[in-house]
Amino acid sequence: MLPRSGPGVLLRLFPVAAGILCLAVRPSPGAPLSPSTRSPPALEKALAAISDLRVFLDFDGDTATFADWPLDKFGGRLPPDQIARGVRLGLSIWASVLPDMRFRFVQREADANLSVRFGNYLTSGFGTCGGRAFTPADWSSLDGSCGRRKENRMPDGSACGEWEHNIIVMMDHAWAVKRADFRGNREVYRDFAWMFDPANPHYVKDGRCRDGGDPAAVWSDTCVRFNKSPAYDSIAGADLASIFEHEFGHTLLGDHTYSRYECIDYARRPILSRDSCVRLYDGGFSVMFPGDGVDGFWNRRGLFEADAVRLRQMGYRVSYPGSVATLVLEGRGGTFLKTGDWREAQRAMIWPLQAKPLSAEQARRQLFLVDVRLPPPVPPR
Ligand SMILES: [Zn+2]
Repeated sequence: MLPRSGPGVLLRLFPVAAGILCLAVRPSPGAPLSPSTRSPPALEKALAAISDLRVFLDFDGDTATFADWPLDKFGGRLPPDQIARGVRLGLSIWASVLPDMRFRFVQREADANLSVRFGNYLTSGFGTCGGRAFTPADWSSLDGSCGRRKENRMPDGSACGEWEHNIIVMMDHAWAVKRADFRGNREVYRDFAWMFDPANPHYVKDGRCRDGGDPAAVWSDTCVRFNKSPAYDSIAGADLASIFEHEFGHTLLGDHTYSRYECIDYARRPILSRDSCVRLYDGGFSVMFPGDGVDGFWNRRGLFEADAVRLRQMGYRVSYPGSVATLVLEGRGGTFLKTGDWREAQRAMIWPLQAKPLSAEQARRQLFLVDVRLPPPVPPR
């Protein structure tokens, strides 16, 4: 069960080595969460925005701005082509089933209607490698001056929220794109099993780190030396493509997809069991599940049944399981698949349709989404 506590609690849970927290602006209290009761103007705003989406990637090493260069898990600069590739993939996955979505990157903020900004966000309510977006009704006009020099501040010092001005903010570290391509959920499971193993001194009671043998001891990130995990070096970092896909999904769909089952128990064992740590919703995964500290570390780039259902319920024109793009998946050893069918892609990823971590043999066979080739835009007549 997810704690009802605020993001501050979530933020403490998974530091750099482990964290994925993907929070969006929550709907105002009392607002309906069901897509069937959304207000049509929200869809109209989102449709207008995505029909001509012009995206400005805001990151640099200029100390005069708040924006910063995204880093990998080991502190190195993520190459710029990979940053663009990660964000483009995150957008392309949605565009692959939304025939009415068109997007392009622009070089100047003045030409954009969406900005993606990386930085060391400390008070915006998300964790160490998550992000924060906005919901369909909150599409407005881009105002990059919010947060330009200081998080949540206008240049004159007054308060603002970047997500109220068409800016999606992303944490600036612990990302991977190319190196994330070939991570399997089995490998990630091993890493998390080590973190939450009650035999390890990763639990705290009476202010002292100890093992988890005593049921009153609770798991604590401050007691975990993440870089001592046997899997630390082999897990590249959080997948920027899938996490950005999630954040942009908020701008299309609003709130998270809530499953009846959450693979999490923050106090004692954030991984419940080896066979059930793939979360499900009506028989499928959703990229819009709330961040649980796990999902961004494995092969989950894609569009899934639950996401397509929600898009349709919102009123978007949706081609799923067909794709208007060519989906390109690769595996180890040069195997690849090109398809226009998301179900076929999921079969090649293996886990989405079997709903459990892969066997070692399956892990060798699994394919990963590495590209989404959208058709060229039709020139205006
Ligand atoms: Zn989220």
